[in-house]
Amino acid sequence: MSYRIDESIISNFLTNHTRPLQLSALPSDPASRRCPICRDSYHAQDPSYLHPLLPADNPEYPVQVLNCGACRHIFGRHCIERQIRASQPWSHVCPLCRVSWFPAPNAARTGMVGEVENALSALARVEIQDEGVRNEMEIVERGLEAIRERLYSQRWI
Ligand SMILES: [Zn+2]
Ligand SMILES: [Zn+2]
Repeated sequence: MSYRIDESIISNFLTNHTRPLQLSALPSDPASRRCPICRDSYHAQDPSYLHPLLPADNPEYPVQVLNCGACRHIFGRHCIERQIRASQPWSHVCPLCRVSWFPAPNAARTGMVGEVENALSALARVEIQDEGVRNEMEIVERGLEAIRERLYSQRWI
């Protein structure tokens, strides 16, 4: 089972579900001025990079999680991405409050979608003359389409 999170999910999360904070916007207690993951003090955001872009060797600025249920936690820009890229079963949840930032990756579901898509394209290639058989095949096709819809709708695949 792979817990690797797709690149498009990572970039969507960092772009749309985190926002950079000014150091002056942080609470004044010392714990809030440090990244809760690496414990380093936050730096101001480097104005030469547009959030969420930040080269790996640049010091991290604070980012706050947005629009992910109740989680409003603040982490360092690098550490939050490292958490998501760790490919662990918990890489999609906030390490402080356990809210899911997005649904867990599910390799099994991705595989099922591929198989259903293949079956539907095979059906589309078949030429059927007999009307009775064609009616039966339409039932099969509608069933596969309903399964595909469910697989797509629940999660991000
Ligand atoms: Zn950190
Ligand atoms: Zn949280």
